[in-house]
Amino acid sequence: MTATAHALVGGAIAASMQNPVLGITLSAVSHPLLDLIPHWDFGWGWRQKTKLRLFLEATFDLVFGFLLAYLLFGRNIDFWYFSAAVLASEIWDILEAPYWFFGWKFPPFGLIYKIQSSLQGKTKTMQVGILNQVLTVTGIVLVLRLFN
Ligand SMILES: [Zn+2]
Repeated sequence: MTATAHALVGGAIAASMQNPVLGITLSAVSHPLLDLIPHWDFGWGWRQKTKLRLFLEATFDLVFGFLLAYLLFGRNIDFWYFSAAVLASEIWDILEAPYWFFGWKFPPFGLIYKIQSSLQGKTKTMQVGILNQVLTVTGIVLVLRLFN
């Protein structure tokens, strides 16, 4: 999924779990589970994109996701806990970046790429892939709210 979707889930987890060890662990675990759901993200067709374009899109996604998650979930909790949970929610894709940009195929980068791309759920169109994400993230946020 997009870094924005992952960040929103990580931020929502942090906002609803007092225990940082639990919150950060759950955020990291949420990533591969979310990626199983068919979706669209900027990684689609990445081999056809220029490295610059891929870099700009990925950076935009990371920064936008962090800010949006902060506005929605981060303002009333410890900033470092919030940031660590968001980072944990995105860590698999961040660790994959050296593979995309530098072609580092050795472990852990190539291995993470292999595992992640085998787990990616893909939709047929971008529109459905975005809608799925909005619905999934909204559903998770609502469920987490019930625990508050
Ligand atoms: Zn991923």
